[in-house]
Amino acid sequence: MFIKKYLTLIGIIGCFVACNAQEKSDTTVFKVNKTETEWKKELSEEEYYVLRQKGTERAGTGTYNHHEVNGVYTCAACQFELFSSDNKYDSGSGWPAFDRPISEESVVENKDSSHGMQRVEIVCSNCGGHLGHMFEDGPRQTTGLRYCINSVSLNFEKKKKASSGEEK
Ligand SMILES: [Zn+2]
Repeated sequence: MFIKKYLTLIGIIGCFVACNAQEKSDTTVFKVNKTETEWKKELSEEEYYVLRQKGTERAGTGTYNHHEVNGVYTCAACQFELFSSDNKYDSGSGWPAFDRPISEESVVENKDSSHGMQRVEIVCSNCGGHLGHMFEDGPRQTTGLRYCINSVSLNFEKKKKASSGEEK
């Protein structure tokens, strides 16, 4: 009897450990879940290539590369707020760059070992859409981070005029 109980306990612990281990391995659950067929219908060809297939737009070709208007950059796939113009800077790389996301919860970091490089992939925390990569060569005076983001992955919403500090 005792041995049977003991074995059951081992079984439970074993399952618990195994389940936990599985959860840790890259299975972030996103609020917006669509099938690839649905995404294909909703997104343009280029958006689908970048957001769903982790493609990269050609350097210097993006709409928001030299975009200097106050406002909020949202996810082109799900309209979730991702970056603020306050944190945008010119990195000279050919892609829009930010030194941080609009909030810590807005993006998720994934390890990316593709193309023989070790990089940190940045995805939208709401739908899992691929946005770009994060590098540690950003502005030293702030975060030191560079969020290198595809214009294609972003939409832009102009800031509504604030009541104060609008004129400099
Ligand atoms: Zn999204």
